Amino acid sequence: MKHKAEIVEIFNSPQGEGVYVGERMTFVRFQRCNMRCKYCDTPQGLCHHEVCRVESPAGSENFIEIPNPVSAAKLCDLLSVFNDKILSVTGGEPLEQVDFLSEWLPSQTSMNKILLETNGIQHERVERILPYINVVSMDIKLPSSTGGEPKWDDHSAFLRNVLASGIEIYVKLVVTADTTDQDIEESIRIITKVNRFIPTIIQPASQTLLFHDRISQKRLGSFERLCSAYLKDVRVIPQMHKEWGVL
Ligand code: SF4
Repeated sequence: MKHKAEIVEIFNSPQGEGVYVGERMTFVRFQRCNMRCKYCDTPQGLCHHEVCRVESPAGSENFIEIPNPVSAAKLCDLLSVFNDKILSVTGGEPLEQVDFLSEWLPSQTSMNKILLETNGIQHERVERILPYINVVSMDIKLPSSTGGEPKWDDHSAFLRNVLASGIEIYVKLVVTADTTDQDIEESIRIITKVNRFIPTIIQPASQTLLFHDRISQKRLGSFERLCSAYLKDVRVIPQMHKEWGVL
């Protein structure tokens, strides 16, 4: 295998977001991202780190450091002491390192489930790893939330590609006090065009050191009602790992 990965951290924790909230899993957080969302809560995923921190022992919140980049064989070795049957491939944006993923993921046959957590933009790259994953947690990035450019066409193509593969998928919409009804309506259009039964999570952005914005319950309720008028499975779920004070 010729590719190596730049990884931020490997750890064990309950999933804090989306439909698998509360399920304990092993997380591999990859470096780099093609977005710069103003509410980003994983800034460590955006830049280069010389070392990857690995929780040791699993679940202890104590870490050892190993040098980056990490080979596929080394990553398999590091993961062998984590006993979870669900693996979260997260970031940053994991698809930034799709060459590595397409070499490494086929070896993860002992996992019951591999969950890809992605910003849902790189629709051509995701096709390369769909045979090796079981669930996709896909964001639709709302420009009024992120402060960035719209990615509607990319999100549409991404959603179509994943659905065509038959893989389980749910969509996450991160909302802030700046989120507009228009962006929510566009997201609804994208989802209803393919399947209105796709679970759709409205996730209020958490406060971070650099992002202090907090959406009101009134706005959150209005987004929930708007989505529920068109979509069949809408849930409001904050980032629970922040509430629990875990990784
Ligand atoms: S896509 Fe995710 S990791 Fe990338 S900047 Fe946005 S919130 Fe951060």
